[in-house]
Amino acid sequence: MTAGELLRGGKETLRRAGVPEWELDAWYLLEHVTGCTRNEYFLHPERKVSLEQEERYRELLRRRSLREPLQYLTGEQEFMGLSFRVCPDVLIPRQDTEILVEEVSKTLKPGDRILDLCTGSGCILISLLKLYGQRGGLTGVGADLSGAALETARGNARRLGVEAEFVQGDLFGPVVGAFDVIVSNPPYIPEAVVGTLQPEVKDHEPVCALDGGGDGLSFYRRIAVESPAFLRPGGRLYLEIGYDQAEAVSGLLAERFRDVRIVKDLAGLDRVVCGVMAED
Ligand code: GLN
Repeated sequence: MTAGELLRGGKETLRRAGVPEWELDAWYLLEHVTGCTRNEYFLHPERKVSLEQEERYRELLRRRSLREPLQYLTGEQEFMGLSFRVCPDVLIPRQDTEILVEEVSKTLKPGDRILDLCTGSGCILISLLKLYGQRGGLTGVGADLSGAALETARGNARRLGVEAEFVQGDLFGPVVGAFDVIVSNPPYIPEAVVGTLQPEVKDHEPVCALDGGGDGLSFYRRIAVESPAFLRPGGRLYLEIGYDQAEAVSGLLAERFRDVRIVKDLAGLDRVVCGVMAED
């Protein structure tokens, strides 16, 4: 069978299954299985595909039709221009979260020590250390409840040549020491909303990475209260939030933090709340 025939069939399968980005996904999966780049493909769509590749492609199409996220099938997601390995133990890094990383990067100083709570794939901490660490000895700790997530994060750090420490436990539970920056993209979807999300998310991504309790704010409440004990004087806190949570989360920070600000994402939605620990 030729690559062109296989791709046509793949598109048709995904379209019939109602996969939202069926054309693109059929292409990405073919690229993943054959290693054939888009250029090569357009030059030689009549290129033959081996039987083994054909079978692997059909298996991935079957799984994608059941709405497994593309990234769990290919095993990777780009974030901040870096390639991160992902698996169903970790949330797939979102482009929105790049706003959080960029906001943190604006105030980083040489020698800063960073804590990333609910690190998941490690994408936030690792990209900060990798992209901004050259300015001078940044160090960092990533914490997560899930041991499997931490394995993925450690693997990502190793592959990207970043030194970071990863600790397992409930939020600040396993954390020791003081930090200049605390950053987190915690679970923030209200419990009742999780079941209404698209199948890729609700049926395949880890629920514990999504569910923020009854009103979605349970992690922010704990972080607001517990983070001052782990921040150096003048330490900064950066939180990713849901589009309708800015007011509630700013309110939670108001007591212990000054200069509390809201940062919007590229779609113009509230995406980050940050503040500086009040020195009193
Ligand atoms: N920090 C990871 C990310 O932003 C995981 C977040 C989470 O599990 N809620 O992708």
